[in-house]
This record gives sequence, C-alpha cells and structure tokens, in this order.
Amino acid sequence: MTEPHAPHATNTPRTQRVALVTDTAYLRHDTGYHPENAARLRAVYAYLHETGLDTRLPHIAPRPATDADLLRVHTARHLAHIEGLAARGGGSIDPDTIVSPHSAEAARLAAGGLLAALDAVVSGDSHGPRSAFVLARPPGHHAMADRAMGFCLYNSVAIAARYAQEVHGLRRVLILDWDVHHGNGTQSVFYDDPSVLFISLHQYPLWPPGWGWIDQDGEGAGAGYTVNIPLPPGESDAGYALACEEIVRPIATAFQPDLVLVSAGQDCHIADPIGGMAVTSAGFAAFTRLALDIARATGARGPVLTLEGGYNPDTLPYLVGTIFDTLGGLGLDVADPYARALPISAEARARLAEVKRAPRPFVDKPVVGAAIEDVG
Ligand SMILES: [Zn+2]
Repeated sequence: MTEPHAPHATNTPRTQRVALVTDTAYLRHDTGYHPENAARLRAVYAYLHETGLDTRLPHIAPRPATDADLLRVHTARHLAHIEGLAARGGGSIDPDTIVSPHSAEAARLAAGGLLAALDAVVSGDSHGPRSAFVLARPPGHHAMADRAMGFCLYNSVAIAARYAQEVHGLRRVLILDWDVHHGNGTQSVFYDDPSVLFISLHQYPLWPPGWGWIDQDGEGAGAGYTVNIPLPPGESDAGYALACEEIVRPIATAFQPDLVLVSAGQDCHIADPIGGMAVTSAGFAAFTRLALDIARATGARGPVLTLEGGYNPDTLPYLVGTIFDTLGGLGLDVADPYARALPISAEARARLAEVKRAPRPFVDKPVVGAAIEDVG
C-alpha cells in the first residue's frame, strides 16, 4: 500500500534537505578534445558559485570506491584493465572512451561520491540530507561488468545499488535513468535481478545500437523488472511527462523501493549537442519532483542522483541548478531561454501504450490510463 505524499517537514531548513557531492579531482579525468570534458563541471562550478549554491548547500566529500565496492559489479579483470591503463599513462579504450593518468582515481571517486552520499542519506541523523546530487565525472551508466564504453569506466549507479543492498541492508532499489542514451551497463548488471527495478527514459534510436527497446524487459527472476521507455527523437517535456505519469510513477510506486537512485543525464535537453530530444528545464524539474514523490510515497530513502550526460556547457549549469532547486525547494526559479511547449507525437503515444501492456509481476493490476490510449 502506498500513502499520500508526506507533508514537508517545517522545522528543518529545506536547504539542508539536499546535499552537494563533488570533488575537483573529477576535473583531472583528462579526455582532451572530447564532448565529455572537464569544462562541463567547471561551468557547473561557476554557476554554483554565482548563485551561492556552493555555500548554501551542505557538502559531502566523496571517498574513493574500494576494490570491494567495485567488485560487487565489475570483474577483477576490468579493474585491472582500467587501473593498469591509467598507471601506464592512459590511452583509448575505444574511440569514445578515454583513460588518462588520473582517470582511475576520478572514476573511483565518482562511484565513491554516491557511496558517501548514501552513507549520509541512509544512516545520517534526522538533520542530515534526505537527498543528494553527485556532480561527478566520468559518467557511469554505459559501463558493463567487464567493459568500459561510452565515456564510462565504472558503473557508479550500479555500484551504489549493490552497496546500498549489501552494506545498508536496503533490499529493493529503484534506478531511474533519464539520460538521453540508454543505460545499457546498468540494465545488463541487473537484468535477471528482481531486487533492482531499472527504468530508462531514452531516445530511440540512438547510441548504443541494439539497446533499450521495449521488449528488453528483464529475464529469469528479473522478468518485468527492466522498464525501457524508448521515445522517438524530438520528444519534449509533454511526451516525457506522459511517460512519467502513466508509466514511471505507477510502476515505480508498485515496486515499493527502499531506495531511489537516479542516473541524471541532461543530454535530453533541447540544446544538447549530442542528444536529439527537446526537454527543457521544466522537464528536468518534473523528473526530479517525480523522483522525490516516489521516495515520499513509498517511504524510500533518497533520491540520490548522479550526473551522467549533458554536453552543452551553457545549459548544463542551470539544468543542474533546476534539479537542486527542486530537490531543496530553494526558490531559485531558474529560467530556461529554450522553454517552449511542443506536442506529443503519435509515435510516442504508440510506444508508451506498448510499454504499458508489458506484464510486471509486482504490479497488481494492469496499469491503465486513458491518456495514452486516447490517440484521437
Ligand atoms: Zn547520455
């Protein structure tokens, strides 16, 4: 059973409800001329400073993920490959995925940022943060158990989910992934595991090829616990909102998670140079509110978010600001010069209806709603 949304606590400053997790060591993952570069975080840091968020938000320092942390998800061979390549001065794993001398350290701190955030959110005192946003790089959601790919070395969000289960005893973990790309690494780690519900909203087709269609919905005991929501290129806030309200919210709530983790990639923004979607800041506020609502409605810890994509250094900062604003009720009222209302495509409605028809063992009754079916 779910409860109505709990009211906001009124005796604690709301700005303390969300923590900022970051470390300048993330800048030392040097990718050279590459869309995933240190300028992304530098631009975000400048914004946090200009808006005063850097001093207003409580700060949690990342710790390096240990071998034991990483080995809950990755193979020993993979660790040896990444660490060895960095120790030898770095190199390219593939045309997209770069390792520099400090990349292994940064990747351990990226995963460890989530682990430190979890420690604070899960076992912190009543005045501690309820949520956190880890501003890390490299990103992680493409990294497979035995392979780095797609700018990602270690799968931070997957490592955090396993840590939450094994160290903090949280049984059911929801991972919501709104990055424009499909989180293939995360999906593959938990594909046969009913203790982790993976929900991905992504552009389809897009990279990585072959990943993220509706029929990839888990296997074995995990059948139904992977939810792929592949949206056609150009989809905007309205199409994403329909997906969130008709699919993500009811399915995630029925799952009754103990923890909500988010792979927050802002490359579905309308001005992103890599993605082809049309989400604006209002969309990211809605995603964030949804993650908060799911946690409140189910009594889950979190949400704990980590930065995945987002490759426009002019827009990523204020989109991060929008997310913090929503998590903390900060009253920033971030304006997006790209704000616009666009219609939902018929293709999106058809795909969403197909996602809704897929059986989910933890959903008591079929998730039905008029809005998707009513294509008109
Ligand atoms: Zn992405």
